[in-house]
Amino acid sequence: MAHELPPLPYDYNALEPYYDEATVKLHHDKHHAAYVAGQNKAEEMLAAARQSGDFGLIQHWERQLAFHASGNELHTVFWENMAPNAGGEPSGELAAQIEKDFGSFDNFKKQFSAAAAAVEGSGWTVLGWSEQFKKLYITNIENHQKQTVMGLVPLLVIDVWEHAYYLKYQNRRADWIEAWWNLVNWSNVAARFAAAKK
Ligand code: FE
Repeated sequence: MAHELPPLPYDYNALEPYYDEATVKLHHDKHHAAYVAGQNKAEEMLAAARQSGDFGLIQHWERQLAFHASGNELHTVFWENMAPNAGGEPSGELAAQIEKDFGSFDNFKKQFSAAAAAVEGSGWTVLGWSEQFKKLYITNIENHQKQTVMGLVPLLVIDVWEHAYYLKYQNRRADWIEAWWNLVNWSNVAARFAAAKK
């Protein structure tokens, strides 16, 4: 079964003024869609290779799979992590874990923003839960799949590829990061945390 582009969980203009309608539409309908298509293509080609026994392009298609499937996963989490009239701070177990692992919510937020501003080129900053180490980590992922902590379950992600913000924020990535905090849907992040710990 081919993977399908998950529908945007709100209207294109729902995240205004922090995230503009034009970027949301392009980002979801074109960029995210391209990763879904790329994931399907890689899976098809790998199935064809198993069928024919010709693994001559295995390196290429394994790379394509890692890039596109990770892109699909990250964008899916990214859209669900945001909501209109959101922002603020987490509560409950997630808030307690953030305090435990980062000292305070304020420290967490500063580290996350600094990490996102520092991503070189195209990438993401991710808050993830490690069941192995029973700990939350912030990690900077290059492209969609390079340089992370293995086993980390993404709870909160920000896309800092230029396609994520350039129409509205141009080169001002720090402004995009600052605006994005107003969109964080903490109940979605908390639900992911609860599921990851099960
Ligand atoms: Fe993106």
